[in-house]
Amino acid sequence: MLVNGAVITGKGATKGRSAEEVEQIRTILRGRFDSLNAEYELAVAENQKLRLVEIGDAAGDDQADSGSKTAERDAATSLLRTLLDRRTQAEHAMQRLDDGTYGNCEGCSNAIPWERLEVFPSATTCVHCKQNRERRAS
Ligand SMILES: [Zn+2]
Repeated sequence: MLVNGAVITGKGATKGRSAEEVEQIRTILRGRFDSLNAEYELAVAENQKLRLVEIGDAAGDDQADSGSKTAERDAATSLLRTLLDRRTQAEHAMQRLDDGTYGNCEGCSNAIPWERLEVFPSATTCVHCKQNRERRAS
């Protein structure tokens, strides 16, 4: 009897790829995750500093000042969100690599072209579904 998970089933894009190629993707994803993680931690620290400064000199603020601070804070917040999103994506892709679903589109479950995965290793949807998603989100 076979141990669970020993056999990669399905029609994933990783099927027919050499173990070496799959390992390569894993290494890229791991590197991406690590650097995004580091960037995120840094951004969180920066963000906290920004808030502390803000609390510190809020008393003497005029309108223009607090306006530019709000913009600065918004930019910092959206950077945090972007980094977190990307980190989650990379993590998600690694999980899919582990469970053998990597390379299949989460939208239409067709195989994502390998060329796309090479450029965007954390992609979990094909170009078509990605565009659909973005259209829905905006
Ligand atoms: Zn799709």
